[in-house]
Amino acid sequence: METFQDIPLPEALQHTLAHMQFAKPTPIQSQAIPLALNGKDILGSAQTGTGKTGAYGIPLVSQLIENPDAQAMVITPTRELAAQVIEQLRAMLGKKSKIRSALLIGGEAMPKQLNQLRSQPRLVVGTPGRINDHLKRKTLKLNALSFLVLDETDRMLDMGFSEQIDEIMKHMDEKPQTLMFSATLPKSILRIAQNYLHEPEHVQVAATSSPAENITQEFLHLRDDEKYPTLLQQLGKREGTVIVFVKTKTDSEKIARKLGQDGLQADAIHGDLRQNQRNRVISAFRNKKYRILVATDVAARGLDIPHIAHVINFDLPQCPEDYIHRIGRTARAGAKGEALNFIAPSERGKWKAIDRLLNPDQPREEKKPRRARPNNPQNRAQKAKKPFHRGGKKRPGSFKKAS
Ligand code: AMP
Repeated sequence: METFQDIPLPEALQHTLAHMQFAKPTPIQSQAIPLALNGKDILGSAQTGTGKTGAYGIPLVSQLIENPDAQAMVITPTRELAAQVIEQLRAMLGKKSKIRSALLIGGEAMPKQLNQLRSQPRLVVGTPGRINDHLKRKTLKLNALSFLVLDETDRMLDMGFSEQIDEIMKHMDEKPQTLMFSATLPKSILRIAQNYLHEPEHVQVAATSSPAENITQEFLHLRDDEKYPTLLQQLGKREGTVIVFVKTKTDSEKIARKLGQDGLQADAIHGDLRQNQRNRVISAFRNKKYRILVATDVAARGLDIPHIAHVINFDLPQCPEDYIHRIGRTARAGAKGEALNFIAPSERGKWKAIDRLLNPDQPREEKKPRRARPNNPQNRAQKAKKPFHRGGKKRPGSFKKAS
């Protein structure tokens, strides 16, 4: 499938895709769209930035346009992702579409959502908690749902939404066509797939546990007290927008504030911000009002900001899967990106766990990695040593010591 013209899509959708400058399907879209148009359930394994929203969004919108009785719902782990998904789906429907939609996310006032629900939306996008709220209030009915998407399902499980999803599923009279996407496919996901998917087709791009190929990955071993000065130094050397990942909400605010004091434009995003504050922070970043976003994992999940050039892991993530999600913030839709990892002595275990996830078949290297002293010019020139390698094959991302 070379272009979207080669797929039997409604004309209105062909137009909106052209308008969105979607000319050629991405690999996951080429695989998933024809299957979904044929009514198949899908278990898709695709990392962020691969065009997975389009992979389910295009058949979803096609069904809504072609069948006036069709009703669709997308469930996402976070509010931000839900907001981005609905934005993309609304763009696919087009401004003139009469098909109504509702965004049902926590942290936002009820009246707006109730208004949207009164307009009899045929498309609902939301997070599990708020969807359940509306089901309990009977302001949302799912008995006639015909198309269901579970997006970033692994993340939903990580966030403890498994029971909420089970609860939502009880409200459907007949099993809708169901598409489930997940960056990783651990056993827990396969179990859910067994429960809710009917003879699913598997679609996949790249290995389930490998980051995008066009991300350069670098690392630095340093002490905790060297992290901030090194961050400043690295930010000074790099061009373009940056997401800095940190462990805690307090750290995100503290580091954004310090960067500001050091003359760099930065803001923080974390789970304690109210919805409208988060929207403001994200939209200002998207519009390049400032250059550096300091984020915690939950807050940054699913953000689709095409121009992020660098991901800096100031602290390594708690769980290794998050490493893939984090660095997926860069190099989206074919762009190039860079990821830099700071590894304090206390984080060596986490670094090893990331190594195991990315290179499961690799015999482990027992030798301690040599420590780079980022502020020492001699070490800066040191030749990169790859801690991660994969047999004789070319690695998806080349790891090198940062200079
Ligand atoms: P996603 O993986 O769905 O978050 O998509 C990542 C980015 O790629 C988004 O900014 C999309 O708008 C963009 N995108 C998705 N599919 C295509 C396509 N076929 N052509 C061009 N851009 C696309």
